[in-house]
Amino acid sequence: MIVVLFGPPGSGKGTQSEKLVEKYHLVHLSTGALLRREITQASQLGLSLQGILDRGELVPDTLMTELLFGQLKRYPGQALLLDGFPRTRAQAEALQATAPVDLALVLSAPLDLVLERLSGRILCHRCGATYHRSHNPAREAGVCDRCHGPLSVRPDDQPEIVRQRYSVYLAQTQAALAFYQNSGKMRTVDGARSPNQVFQELCQAVDLYKVNA
Ligand code: AMP
Repeated sequence: MIVVLFGPPGSGKGTQSEKLVEKYHLVHLSTGALLRREITQASQLGLSLQGILDRGELVPDTLMTELLFGQLKRYPGQALLLDGFPRTRAQAEALQATAPVDLALVLSAPLDLVLERLSGRILCHRCGATYHRSHNPAREAGVCDRCHGPLSVRPDDQPEIVRQRYSVYLAQTQAALAFYQNSGKMRTVDGARSPNQVFQELCQAVDLYKVNA
Protein backbone atom coordinates (compact mmCIF):
# COMPACT_ATOMS: atom_id res chain seq x y z
CA MET A 1 0.00 0.00 0.00
CA ILE A 2 1.32 3.44 -0.89
CA VAL A 3 -0.29 6.39 0.84
CA VAL A 4 0.71 9.98 0.04
CA LEU A 5 0.00 12.85 2.39
CA PHE A 6 -0.42 16.32 0.91
CA GLY A 7 -0.89 19.66 2.59
CA PRO A 8 0.62 23.14 2.74
CA PRO A 9 3.36 23.84 5.30
CA GLY A 10 1.90 23.85 8.80
CA SER A 11 -1.16 21.79 7.88
CA GLY A 12 -0.09 19.01 10.28
CA LYS A 13 1.56 16.54 7.89
CA GLY A 14 4.35 15.73 10.34
CA THR A 15 2.02 15.20 13.31
CA GLN A 16 -0.46 13.11 11.33
CA SER A 17 2.30 11.09 9.68
CA GLU A 18 3.62 10.02 13.07
CA LYS A 19 0.17 8.84 14.14
CA LEU A 20 -0.61 7.04 10.86
CA VAL A 21 2.77 5.32 10.80
CA GLU A 22 2.23 3.99 14.31
CA LYS A 23 -1.34 2.83 13.77
CA TYR A 24 -0.92 1.21 10.34
CA HIS A 25 2.76 0.13 10.64
CA LEU A 26 3.82 2.15 7.62
CA VAL A 27 7.34 3.11 6.62
CA HIS A 28 7.50 6.91 6.83
CA LEU A 29 9.37 8.63 4.02
CA SER A 30 9.50 12.41 4.51
CA THR A 31 11.38 14.07 1.68
CA GLY A 32 11.80 17.27 3.75
CA ALA A 33 13.44 15.23 6.54
CA LEU A 34 15.68 13.42 4.04
CA LEU A 35 16.81 16.74 2.58
CA ARG A 36 17.42 18.26 6.03
CA ARG A 37 19.52 15.21 6.94
CA GLU A 38 21.71 15.80 3.86
CA ILE A 39 22.11 19.44 4.90
CA THR A 40 23.01 18.54 8.50
CA GLN A 41 25.63 16.08 7.24
CA ALA A 42 27.07 18.89 5.10
CA SER A 43 27.44 16.48 2.17
CA GLN A 44 28.15 17.89 -1.28
CA LEU A 45 24.47 17.44 -2.06
CA GLY A 46 23.47 19.03 1.25
CA LEU A 47 25.49 22.16 0.57
CA SER A 48 23.75 22.67 -2.77
CA LEU A 49 20.33 22.14 -1.17
CA GLN A 50 20.64 24.55 1.74
CA GLY A 51 19.87 27.72 -0.23
CA ILE A 52 16.90 26.15 -2.00
CA LEU A 53 15.26 25.08 1.26
CA ASP A 54 16.10 28.36 3.02
CA ARG A 55 14.38 30.30 0.23
CA GLY A 56 11.29 28.06 0.37
CA GLU A 57 11.72 26.90 -3.22
CA LEU A 58 11.38 23.37 -4.56
CA VAL A 59 14.35 21.09 -5.18
CA PRO A 60 14.55 20.13 -8.90
CA ASP A 61 12.36 17.18 -9.90
CA THR A 62 15.17 14.98 -11.23
CA LEU A 63 17.11 15.21 -7.99
CA MET A 64 13.99 14.62 -5.89
CA THR A 65 12.80 11.59 -7.82
CA GLU A 66 16.30 10.07 -7.65
CA LEU A 67 16.39 10.60 -3.88
CA LEU A 68 12.90 9.21 -3.32
CA PHE A 69 13.26 6.23 -5.64
CA GLY A 70 16.54 5.34 -3.91
CA GLN A 71 14.55 5.13 -0.68
CA LEU A 72 11.72 3.11 -2.27
CA LYS A 73 14.23 0.43 -3.25
CA ARG A 74 15.13 -0.03 0.41
CA TYR A 75 11.59 -1.09 1.33
CA PRO A 76 10.36 -3.52 -1.34
CA GLY A 77 6.79 -4.72 -0.78
CA GLN A 78 6.33 -2.65 2.39
CA ALA A 79 3.41 -0.32 3.11
CA LEU A 80 4.66 3.26 2.76
CA LEU A 81 3.58 6.73 3.78
CA LEU A 82 5.07 9.40 1.54
CA ASP A 83 5.12 12.78 3.27
CA GLY A 84 6.13 15.65 0.99
CA PHE A 85 6.34 13.73 -2.28
CA PRO A 86 5.07 14.24 -4.96
CA ARG A 87 5.06 18.02 -4.94
CA THR A 88 4.83 18.67 -8.67
CA ARG A 89 2.96 17.17 -11.59
CA ALA A 90 6.23 15.71 -12.97
CA GLN A 91 6.93 13.98 -9.64
CA ALA A 92 3.37 12.58 -9.56
CA GLU A 93 3.80 11.16 -13.06
CA ALA A 94 7.20 9.64 -12.23
CA LEU A 95 5.76 8.04 -9.10
CA GLN A 96 2.79 6.65 -10.99
CA ALA A 97 5.14 4.95 -13.44
CA THR A 98 7.24 3.39 -10.66
CA ALA A 99 5.05 2.84 -7.60
CA PRO A 100 1.37 3.72 -8.16
CA VAL A 101 -0.34 5.49 -5.29
CA ASP A 102 -3.27 3.75 -3.56
CA LEU A 103 -4.52 6.63 -1.45
CA ALA A 104 -3.91 10.39 -1.61
CA LEU A 105 -4.76 12.17 1.64
CA VAL A 106 -4.91 15.97 1.58
CA LEU A 107 -4.84 18.28 4.60
CA SER A 108 -6.24 21.74 3.91
CA ALA A 109 -5.27 24.79 5.99
CA PRO A 110 -5.59 28.55 5.32
CA LEU A 111 -2.51 30.80 5.24
CA ASP A 112 -3.33 32.73 8.44
CA LEU A 113 -3.57 29.51 10.46
CA VAL A 114 -0.35 28.19 8.96
CA LEU A 115 1.49 31.42 9.84
CA GLU A 116 0.22 31.24 13.40
CA ARG A 117 1.17 27.58 13.83
CA LEU A 118 4.64 27.85 12.33
CA SER A 119 5.56 31.06 14.16
CA GLY A 120 6.33 29.06 17.33
CA ARG A 121 7.48 25.75 15.86
CA ILE A 122 10.80 24.29 16.98
CA LEU A 123 12.41 21.17 15.62
CA CYS A 124 14.88 18.57 16.82
CA HIS A 125 17.51 18.30 14.13
CA ARG A 126 18.59 14.90 15.37
CA CYS A 127 15.30 12.92 15.35
CA GLY A 128 12.90 15.32 13.59
CA ALA A 129 10.44 15.66 16.52
CA THR A 130 8.53 18.95 16.46
CA TYR A 131 7.38 21.17 19.32
CA HIS A 132 5.58 24.49 19.64
CA ARG A 133 6.80 27.17 22.04
CA SER A 134 3.34 27.73 23.55
CA HIS A 135 1.03 24.84 22.44
CA ASN A 136 3.46 21.93 22.84
CA PRO A 137 6.69 22.95 24.59
CA ALA A 138 9.55 20.54 25.31
CA ARG A 139 9.91 19.59 29.00
CA GLU A 140 13.33 21.25 29.12
CA ALA A 141 13.74 24.38 26.98
CA GLY A 142 15.85 23.74 23.88
CA VAL A 143 16.21 19.97 24.48
CA CYS A 144 14.27 17.22 22.71
CA ASP A 145 12.13 15.08 25.08
CA ARG A 146 12.64 12.05 22.89
CA CYS A 147 16.36 11.96 22.04
CA HIS A 148 17.83 14.93 24.04
CA GLY A 149 19.00 16.49 20.76
CA PRO A 150 19.17 20.29 20.41
CA LEU A 151 16.01 22.14 19.32
CA SER A 152 15.98 25.09 16.99
CA VAL A 153 13.72 27.04 14.65
CA ARG A 154 13.64 25.84 11.04
CA PRO A 155 15.15 28.64 8.91
CA ASP A 156 12.29 28.25 6.43
CA ASP A 157 9.67 28.85 9.14
CA GLN A 158 10.21 32.64 9.02
CA PRO A 159 6.91 34.27 7.99
CA GLU A 160 8.08 35.53 4.58
CA ILE A 161 9.46 32.10 3.70
CA VAL A 162 6.27 30.39 4.94
CA ARG A 163 4.30 32.67 2.58
CA GLN A 164 6.63 31.65 -0.26
CA ARG A 165 6.25 27.91 0.57
CA TYR A 166 2.48 28.33 0.76
CA SER A 167 2.33 29.96 -2.65
CA VAL A 168 4.60 27.25 -4.11
CA TYR A 169 2.13 24.73 -2.71
CA LEU A 170 -0.79 26.47 -4.39
CA ALA A 171 1.02 26.91 -7.68
CA GLN A 172 2.87 23.61 -8.05
CA THR A 173 1.59 21.02 -5.64
CA GLN A 174 -2.04 21.63 -6.54
CA ALA A 175 -1.06 20.50 -10.04
CA ALA A 176 0.26 17.26 -8.57
CA LEU A 177 -3.01 16.89 -6.66
CA ALA A 178 -5.03 17.30 -9.82
CA PHE A 179 -3.40 14.08 -10.94
CA TYR A 180 -5.38 12.16 -8.28
CA GLN A 181 -8.53 14.30 -8.36
CA ASN A 182 -10.68 12.08 -10.53
CA SER A 183 -9.10 8.78 -9.58
CA GLY A 184 -11.39 8.07 -6.63
CA LYS A 185 -8.22 7.72 -4.52
CA MET A 186 -8.19 11.20 -3.03
CA ARG A 187 -9.65 12.31 0.30
CA THR A 188 -9.44 15.89 1.64
CA VAL A 189 -9.59 16.59 5.38
CA ASP A 190 -9.90 19.97 7.11
CA GLY A 191 -6.46 20.38 8.70
CA ALA A 192 -7.68 23.33 10.80
CA ARG A 193 -9.49 20.97 13.17
CA SER A 194 -7.87 19.42 16.26
CA PRO A 195 -5.12 16.82 15.63
CA ASN A 196 -7.34 14.04 17.00
CA GLN A 197 -10.31 14.99 14.81
CA VAL A 198 -8.06 15.14 11.75
CA PHE A 199 -6.54 11.79 12.64
CA GLN A 200 -9.97 10.16 12.98
CA GLU A 201 -10.96 11.32 9.51
CA LEU A 202 -7.70 10.17 7.99
CA CYS A 203 -8.16 6.76 9.62
CA GLN A 204 -11.66 6.51 8.15
CA ALA A 205 -10.18 7.03 4.70
CA VAL A 206 -7.43 4.44 5.24
CA ASP A 207 -9.88 1.91 6.71
CA LEU A 208 -12.27 2.39 3.81
CA TYR A 209 -9.45 1.83 1.36
CA LYS A 210 -8.40 -1.35 3.18
CA VAL A 211 -11.93 -2.74 3.20
CA ASN A 212 -12.26 -2.25 -0.57
CA ALA A 213 -8.69 -3.26 -1.51
P1 AMP B 1 8.84 19.88 4.24
O1 AMP B 1 9.64 19.38 5.39
O2 AMP B 1 7.97 18.84 3.63
O3 AMP B 1 8.10 21.15 4.58
O4 AMP B 1 9.90 20.28 3.09
C1 AMP B 1 10.87 21.28 3.32
C2 AMP B 1 11.48 21.73 2.01
O5 AMP B 1 12.12 20.62 1.36
C3 AMP B 1 10.49 22.26 0.97
O6 AMP B 1 10.17 23.62 1.19
C4 AMP B 1 11.31 22.06 -0.32
O7 AMP B 1 12.33 23.05 -0.43
C5 AMP B 1 12.01 20.74 -0.06
N1 AMP B 1 11.22 19.58 -0.54
C6 AMP B 1 10.66 18.59 0.22
N2 AMP B 1 10.04 17.69 -0.55
C7 AMP B 1 10.19 18.11 -1.83
C8 AMP B 1 9.76 17.61 -3.09
N3 AMP B 1 9.03 16.50 -3.20
N4 AMP B 1 10.12 18.32 -4.20
C9 AMP B 1 10.86 19.43 -4.13
N5 AMP B 1 11.29 19.97 -2.97
C10 AMP B 1 10.96 19.31 -1.82
